[in-house]
Amino acid sequence: MFLGHFGLGLAAKRASPRTSLGTLWMAAQFLDLIWPIFLLTGLERVRVDPGNTVVTPLDFVSYPLSHSLLAALGWAFLFAAVYWFSTRNGTGTFFVGFLVLSHWLLDAVAHRPDLPLYPASNRMFGMGLWNSLAATLLLEAMLFLWGVIVYRSATRARDPVGTYAFRTLIFFLILVYLGSMLGPPPPDSHYVAVVALGQWVLVLWAYWVDRHREAPLLT
Ligand SMILES: [Zn+2]
Repeated sequence: MFLGHFGLGLAAKRASPRTSLGTLWMAAQFLDLIWPIFLLTGLERVRVDPGNTVVTPLDFVSYPLSHSLLAALGWAFLFAAVYWFSTRNGTGTFFVGFLVLSHWLLDAVAHRPDLPLYPASNRMFGMGLWNSLAATLLLEAMLFLWGVIVYRSATRARDPVGTYAFRTLIFFLILVYLGSMLGPPPPDSHYVAVVALGQWVLVLWAYWVDRHREAPLLT
């Protein structure tokens, strides 16, 4: 799952208009943002294995610290706590916590059963939507489109940056997604980790966009 996580983060803007899109995306994608750090430090492992499912050429050999259910709950709680202590925004706190957990839930729909219940657990979750390209594209596109529509209606551009930086960001994400679906599999796991780490740029980009848009509901 990729675009779906971003879609949920976009849609959360209506429910929590005071929270920047940057923070909403960081929450929705948090497990995948810390995953490459665990990969690069050798604490988690991924293997390039074309055909692992129809959609992804990756075999998620081990990722208990970023992607077990227990860890996801812990990260959600931690993320929400940090957000609460820095903003005292109760609504935002609820939604950022929910978004962190939503990443695991959406992954559990998409992945084959490789998401552990807790580190070292043999109980694995994963409904395997990735075995169908059509179903995956449909769900990702629906969630993403929904998010874009909701974010666009919940905010308005303060200046041209708010319009064009937003549009470029959305097109860039779609391009990245199509590239990953249609392009050749990555050469090795190190490459996967470095590219995944690059997703932090999307978070910064979203903070920039959000600063140039306003939520009229608030004013
Ligand atoms: Zn994930």
